[in-house]
Amino acid sequence: MKIESVEIIPLDMALEEVFKGGTYQVASRPTIVTRVYLENGIVGESYGGDEFHTQTEIVNVVREHLSPLLIGQDVRDFQRLWEAMFHVNVDLGNRGLHQLDMHPRGILLQAVSCLDNAMWDARGKLYDTPVYKLLGGVRDRVPVISIGGYYPKDGKDSCVAIAEEVAMVRETGCIGIKMKVGRASLEEDLERVRAARRAGGKDFVVTVDANQGWDPLDAVKFCVAMEKADLDVRWMEEPVKWYDQTDGLALLAMKTSIPVNVGQGEITGRACRDLITKGHVSILNLDCTLCGGVTEWQRVADMAKLMNVEMAHHEEPQVAVHLIAANPHALFVEIFANKVRDPLLWQLPDGFPEIRDGYMTVPQGPGFGIRLKPEVIEQYRIDR
Ligand SMILES: [Mg+2]
Repeated sequence: MKIESVEIIPLDMALEEVFKGGTYQVASRPTIVTRVYLENGIVGESYGGDEFHTQTEIVNVVREHLSPLLIGQDVRDFQRLWEAMFHVNVDLGNRGLHQLDMHPRGILLQAVSCLDNAMWDARGKLYDTPVYKLLGGVRDRVPVISIGGYYPKDGKDSCVAIAEEVAMVRETGCIGIKMKVGRASLEEDLERVRAARRAGGKDFVVTVDANQGWDPLDAVKFCVAMEKADLDVRWMEEPVKWYDQTDGLALLAMKTSIPVNVGQGEITGRACRDLITKGHVSILNLDCTLCGGVTEWQRVADMAKLMNVEMAHHEEPQVAVHLIAANPHALFVEIFANKVRDPLLWQLPDGFPEIRDGYMTVPQGPGFGIRLKPEVIEQYRIDR
């Protein structure tokens, strides 16, 4: 079943508010829509990625370097096509160290992700089967938590803010929250986690995400304090700064029983292997819109299963719901219960499931089971 053509469209949507996490702020929701056209008329489509700065380069790599490798190829050969894309030599025309050594990895892997995910949608449509069934089909619905706990605008008490947000998250039907830490002092962040636990009650899932905000010793201090306070935190996400991702995480794992969850900042399966063997992490939250797509995410999940490591997925529920549903050791789908933080999720996909009683039902249509609304794509595309 041959691929006839490929289409890639960058989108960006300004947000009504600026959201502040541990080490960054978010003012817009960029993403990339990718379509793969097959010779029999099937169109595989997917969207994902939340990156603005390199969006143009990613789109160019898909158009100029990767799409030519796929045209005329059989869409069913997912291992062969993935290897061809991964090993392509992309010359971005800049010999600076930033460009040569670091920049291209993220661009290439996100470009591969765009195509790999759209091809998985096409395969699902070809076999008339949802993606999660193609991958193994462990369950038909998955528990949902909300990303939130951003730092409030100046003036508002941060403990009051998180307590109010937990109440809102419960009302939307999520079973828990992933809250930001790492921007305030350790003492204030600890009080915020305490306030979230108090507001949520004992059955509410609380996870914390520092977005690589601390050095290892501060991360140890914070996790030990959370344990002493008996806050029952499900995981500590990205506690340690970028330069200490293996030994620093290993030190933390030795000192705390709170599971450490990292991976969204890693873009290769081999780096995930090292996070397990050298960093002793307990959970990987690899993102299939950044790491090379469903193909690579599932390879990592298979490796993690054999090493007793659980799987999570950073954001992007429109694809993550299939991966979490297909793996017995995968935990939650993540959404933004505050609809202002990711308005695209509620506007772009047609047929995206509601959340009920803490769970999201996996879309049952073929592929990812959603149709991307052409009028929304036209409204937010930035390549015209
Ligand atoms: Mg995170």
